[in-house]
Amino acid sequence: MTAGAPETTRFRAYGPRHIDTIADRYGLPDEVRETVRRISLVLPFRVNSYVLDQLIDWDDVPGDPMFQLTFPQRGMLTGDDEDRLGKLSADPADRLLLREAVTDIRGRLNPHPSGQQQLNVPVQDGEAIPGLQHKYRETVLYFPGQGQTCHAYCTYCFRWAQFIGDADLRFAAPDPSGLLDHLRAHPEVHDVLVTGGDPMVMSTDRLRTHLEPLLDVATVRTIRIGTKSVAYWPQRFVTDADADDALRLFEQVVDSGRQLAVMAHFSHPRELATDLSQQALRRIRATGAVVYCQAPLIAHVNDDAETWSRLWRAELAAGAVPYYQFVERDTGPHAYFKVPLARAAEIFADAYRTLPGLARTVRGPVMSATPGKVVVDGVEETPEGAFFRLRMLQARQPSLVGRPFRARYSATAAWLDELELDPATPADLAAAVRGGTASRTEGSPA
Ligand code: SF4
Repeated sequence: MTAGAPETTRFRAYGPRHIDTIADRYGLPDEVRETVRRISLVLPFRVNSYVLDQLIDWDDVPGDPMFQLTFPQRGMLTGDDEDRLGKLSADPADRLLLREAVTDIRGRLNPHPSGQQQLNVPVQDGEAIPGLQHKYRETVLYFPGQGQTCHAYCTYCFRWAQFIGDADLRFAAPDPSGLLDHLRAHPEVHDVLVTGGDPMVMSTDRLRTHLEPLLDVATVRTIRIGTKSVAYWPQRFVTDADADDALRLFEQVVDSGRQLAVMAHFSHPRELATDLSQQALRRIRATGAVVYCQAPLIAHVNDDAETWSRLWRAELAAGAVPYYQFVERDTGPHAYFKVPLARAAEIFADAYRTLPGLARTVRGPVMSATPGKVVVDGVEETPEGAFFRLRMLQARQPSLVGRPFRARYSATAAWLDELELDPATPADLAAAVRGGTASRTEGSPA
């Protein structure tokens, strides 16, 4: 891996405006630079010095998985759309037309995976509570307003529209008052997932204003923080000016008798291979927090069993818990990243077989769909043909949790709504699955 610039420990984000600087510094070919410039007109693009200097292998660009993970790529939009953007952006007189083209293309990328706004947002006195989702009985998702960005953006992010100024989609709570009211009215909620974006982009002082009030709610027993900061900016826990304060805040949560779960998002084993990420994990674990790891299975980034085997082993070696392998959902450049369920199940099974027992905590491939989390347990051959074995790991309706069901095997289906259910599926399960497969809801945060 080559480092093109001296490492800095001060966080600085680079976006579309810096593409020429990045291209000159790291020797990006002209056509790659142009692709990034065009596609980042539509999809969010953000990196930082750590991602550029320590994660991307510039000798392997554009195929490098870390480059694919963070830089817009040819093929994420149709050739026609890319050409259109190229033509319109070349002439300043076409600025208005360019803006219209960007809006049109975004609209065709399913920016509002439905179900989240309609089904998950709790209502109080007839008003939606901003920055909350309550889908599963015992868990509430909380989106602190100041945490709705990330240290870098994943090209596959299913919350991409959150980062392009789309107020309609944006979940953001100005402060925790709505959350606290909701928790008091719902003592059955034991688990609050603080998510984003990435809550760890907030200063520790800001983060404290969101976390500390939760410690006064006796029914909250677990606080989860969804974050990719250990992968994208481990300095947050090691060298940032308020890194130690963040760790003291974690200790405060643990000392209150609650479980603090850091839901870390690692997409590739390289993210765990730096000294900084290892130090960050050691320091987080020393607070008493437990680190759980999750990520989606993504073409061009991690779509092979060997990569997942190395990833889960690296997580275990670092004292973290492999937790979920998700299926990529249908939004943004889904056609570029999607992996058929049949292939995903093969990759999962091949990787799982290589693991030591302690890493077999991982579940996958999992679709976080409208009725709940559905895992593909494998394929079975029967006299009537081949079927996917499926199971509800989590469900909007608690009575469905843990229930197995089947669907006809398909070599190409990439989501639940593309599957044909076995006619013998119990009616309640079939109704939940058929009634809600058209949309995707929350899943791997940060
Ligand atoms: S919210 Fe998560 S998946 Fe999306 S860009 Fe941020 S870190 Fe990546």
